[in-house]
Amino acid sequence: MKLGIVGLPNVGKSTLFNSLTKAGALAANYPFATIDPNVGIVTVPDERIEKLGELYHTKKVTPATIEFVDIAGLVKGASKGEGLGNQFLANIREVDAIVHVVRCFEDSNVIHVDGNIGPARDIETINLELIFSDIEILERRIAKVAKQARMDKTLAKELEQLEAIKAHLEAGKMASSFEVPDDDDLKAWFASYNLLTAKPTIYAANVAEDDLADDGNSNEYVAQVRKLAAEEGNGVFVVSARLEEELAELSEEEKKEFLADLGAESSGLDKLVAASYKLLGLISFLTAGEDECRAWTIKEGTKAPQAAGKIHTDFERGFIKAEVVNYQDLLDNGSLAAAREKGIVGMEGKDYVVKDGDVILFRFNV
Ligand code: GDP
Repeated sequence: MKLGIVGLPNVGKSTLFNSLTKAGALAANYPFATIDPNVGIVTVPDERIEKLGELYHTKKVTPATIEFVDIAGLVKGASKGEGLGNQFLANIREVDAIVHVVRCFEDSNVIHVDGNIGPARDIETINLELIFSDIEILERRIAKVAKQARMDKTLAKELEQLEAIKAHLEAGKMASSFEVPDDDDLKAWFASYNLLTAKPTIYAANVAEDDLADDGNSNEYVAQVRKLAAEEGNGVFVVSARLEEELAELSEEEKKEFLADLGAESSGLDKLVAASYKLLGLISFLTAGEDECRAWTIKEGTKAPQAAGKIHTDFERGFIKAEVVNYQDLLDNGSLAAAREKGIVGMEGKDYVVKDGDVILFRFNV
């Protein structure tokens, strides 16, 4: 999963980005990889694979990962009309969802670019930047398709749709509210543009530490963000970037204590993971063995062969059966053999819909 971070200057993006990438790296003692300064890879905290690892005395525990891309660069460039590297542009267009950091904390030491705090206004400002950047993409595409359409008449309908989306954006609306006609070509084209304003968004309401205890319920700015997100069908999570920065330095044990003292239940990373999995309809299944215990992220509703394909395309092609046991059942029984004896390990076929927390052993032909 890939998430792109956006937000106005000085709202806490870098603080959050840096602390999340650090926290994610520490949590699982996993090498923190930096591909470039704008990209950070974070491991998804998952107690289940840690416990499976203990059960199997496994050599390696591999959590699922989330890639964060800092899109700050785009916003700056877009408003100035500056071109950015192709690689960077490709990177941000590929994100599955946008994390939009919104300042909901008061602090006279931290200047707000618009002089005062106003989440609804801030969100609109950033959305406009994203809209501009999408219009740029559309214009490039229009130029290309217009040329091709002279030779290929079937492209006329794409050109027409491109112009319609552009007009929609120019009216200040997001591509997510553009109604694509029920036509397979038009739908596929629309998806292929990878428009930023068509992507699901998770708002990160950045609050002061004190506001964490009641999950931002007494903070009027958070209420504004929640209202907007609900109207859009988007997600929200309440976080304190400052606090995350401190948390990132602590061990798992210390972190839990620290959060408990504050009356907060989970870290920002945990909340972000939960919010994004929910918004994107994602779940995890697990594989376990002496060599490796691992978590895999899939879309809800994925069937066994396609889940197998996440591991290796050969697994999908040669899929025979999946041996499936619930993670907790496996732990409670102490071993796969014991769970089998109890008859709680299912032999599932190609129509089996994988559930969150399934531990799966795939049987396949090579
Ligand atoms: P960016 O421009 O959005 O990347 O913002 P930064 O992460 O650089 O943060 C801007 C300033 O706000 C820095 O001085 C941070 O220390 C401060 N800051 C970030 N998050 C918080 C927070 O939750 N509370 C307070 N009081 N300050 C914060």
